[in-house]
Amino acid sequence: MRTRVKAGWLIGHDGRSHEIIRDGELVYEDSEIIFVGRHFEGSVDVSIDAGGKLVGPGFIDSHVHAGHRAVHRLMSDCGRPEFLGQPFYELIPSLGKSSTGDPRRAVGRELDLQAQYTVVELLLSGITTFVEFGASAGMQAALADHVEKLGMRAYLGPGFESGKLGCDQDGRRAFEPHDDEGMSQLQEALQFIERHDGKAEGRIKGILVPREVDTCSVSLLKRANELAIERKLVLATHAAYNPWEVYETIARHGCTPIELLERIGMLRPGVILGHCNYCASEGRMHYPGGRDLEILAQSGACVSHCPVNLMRRGRMLDHWGKYRGLGIPIALGSDTYPRDMVALMRAASYMGKMASGDLFVAPAGEVYEAATTAGADVLGRRDLGRLAPGAKADFIVMGLSGTRHLRLTPVRDPIRALVECGMGDDVETVVIDGHVRMRERVIPGIDLPALQRDIQRDAEAVWEQVKDWDPLGRSAEARQPYSFPMR
Ligand SMILES: [Zn+2]
Repeated sequence: MRTRVKAGWLIGHDGRSHEIIRDGELVYEDSEIIFVGRHFEGSVDVSIDAGGKLVGPGFIDSHVHAGHRAVHRLMSDCGRPEFLGQPFYELIPSLGKSSTGDPRRAVGRELDLQAQYTVVELLLSGITTFVEFGASAGMQAALADHVEKLGMRAYLGPGFESGKLGCDQDGRRAFEPHDDEGMSQLQEALQFIERHDGKAEGRIKGILVPREVDTCSVSLLKRANELAIERKLVLATHAAYNPWEVYETIARHGCTPIELLERIGMLRPGVILGHCNYCASEGRMHYPGGRDLEILAQSGACVSHCPVNLMRRGRMLDHWGKYRGLGIPIALGSDTYPRDMVALMRAASYMGKMASGDLFVAPAGEVYEAATTAGADVLGRRDLGRLAPGAKADFIVMGLSGTRHLRLTPVRDPIRALVECGMGDDVETVVIDGHVRMRERVIPGIDLPALQRDIQRDAEAVWEQVKDWDPLGRSAEARQPYSFPMR
């Protein structure tokens, strides 16, 4: 079936960059785009007029940690100083215990609820493709189910690592290495990929995720890299993401995480590196002669930048202009919450300007590329993240006028309007693979109020049990007091 969508603002792609088309037409046949331009001369079966709305490519989230975020809600405005701001460490339980609400440990109905929440939240903000960054095999399978049902596109594969991170009896961070376990987890990841890659009409793809540079042995990283090359799989890991990790890698291996990955041959196109905001080229890392940025620039690996997550912890990427100026690809990711690509674009743009002290850095067009083409390119998908003939019919319709606000009015440049004044909730309709997956903010098969109620109930149970696993025995209230005294 051939469908034409007329749009007041259409974001096309000319093969090199996005382009803005005023009063344009997008035509797709089944799952593939066949025309993007001013006027299509051929015949169509269905014609839809989106009026003055914006039609653009679906967003690509390069860094998703699945789950309903109940534990992450305990992470803002508080934390243990000795964890140096690393958000993930706030969630590690005492060794031998598991934290409730942790999606890695969830099972049964809770697991399914967390997976559904993840996919629905992404879809609601116009994300049409996402990369999951290392959740458990159970979570990946649950995600695959919901991805298939709701028509999303995803890169899935259980994460693996060579040991267990926890806190010892005095509440200090401790890591118990288990190299054999890492290798067997890698085998399980391969089995998952064999079972799921290509499912959901090709919308599910496998990915190898050795979780973090500091929690994986060199032999595990090497093996994962060899297998990714051999099987043509995308590889993702967290690197230069955390001061602990950087200095521990230096202590263990005599080099920075980026230098270690270069040594292993793991820095190359098709590799996604979570964060890279602690590159040793930075003066604040006190690593004289650090060449991390130059190494990254020569490698073709892509930085998955999660600006909201960094800012919440008082961190930053220093800075966007420097990375992009060297030619380092940057894709955006939500990492924790909220999963709102519009908020991420705004945060990336403002962080880039603040970190550089330069208003020309991280302009709207560049952060829009980071939310669309950059993620697609690292996945090797020239058919995603852009609207052009031959690309997949993955697009979103966004209202620029709204019925209950003046945020975006008046619109001169729709990309700047979106980056500066938009919200994920401005996404009205989502089409993936030529099928409508959300229409006027309704996702078929999803009862949003019921999902909200279930999540709230589940999260309250999680918060109730925090002291059972918190390494210092603190309750949720003790870890993170309410913003004002609770009457
Ligand atoms: Zn992450």
